[in-house]
Amino acid sequence: MKKKIIKLVETDITTLSVDVIVNAANSSLLGGGGVDGAIHRAAGPELLTECRTLNGCPTSEAKITKGYKLPARFVIHTVGPIWRGGNHEETHLLAECYRNTFKIAQTQHLETIAFPAISTGAYGFPVKVAAKIAVRETMIAAMQIPFLKQVIFVCFTPETREAYEEALQ
Ligand code: ADP
Repeated sequence: MKKKIIKLVETDITTLSVDVIVNAANSSLLGGGGVDGAIHRAAGPELLTECRTLNGCPTSEAKITKGYKLPARFVIHTVGPIWRGGNHEETHLLAECYRNTFKIAQTQHLETIAFPAISTGAYGFPVKVAAKIAVRETMIAAMQIPFLKQVIFVCFTPETREAYEEALQ
């Protein structure tokens, strides 16, 4: 199958020269901590200027901007769900983040994409569950998008890497 388009890397997502990196944003799209803060710092202030024109983003939806000073050409900002025990549609909403991100990637003809582990930091989503969703939605996207070449999962912590390795088995 197309599983080999998936790659795990332990690095700062802002260093990757891909078509698009994904930001685990908050619904204001005006920057925050974690990966969001790192992306805004590395892209420079023009990213915030463009984000201000987008009027925020509801949970599970996604919006694209340019990458500015990043090596990546574009950033897709998606807003993951906050984990509230698991009975508030969290798994569905996280899957929608991946689906909506891939939809934009397909429309814009983006071939290489890097994801952080959306929602698993400040938003508290269990990383093992999140990794399974990320892998499943990527396998589906890989079947639907013929030109998709590479999907990189950025594992910022050893625990994250273990969760993705398990999900890939
Ligand atoms: P959320 O609010 O969606 O939980 P966080 O940014 O708090 O977003 O965390 C999401 C994931 O991104 C976590 O696994 C965190 O370790 C990781 N992360 C934080 N900084 C970076 C970075 N510079 N590059 C890649 N991943 C990062």
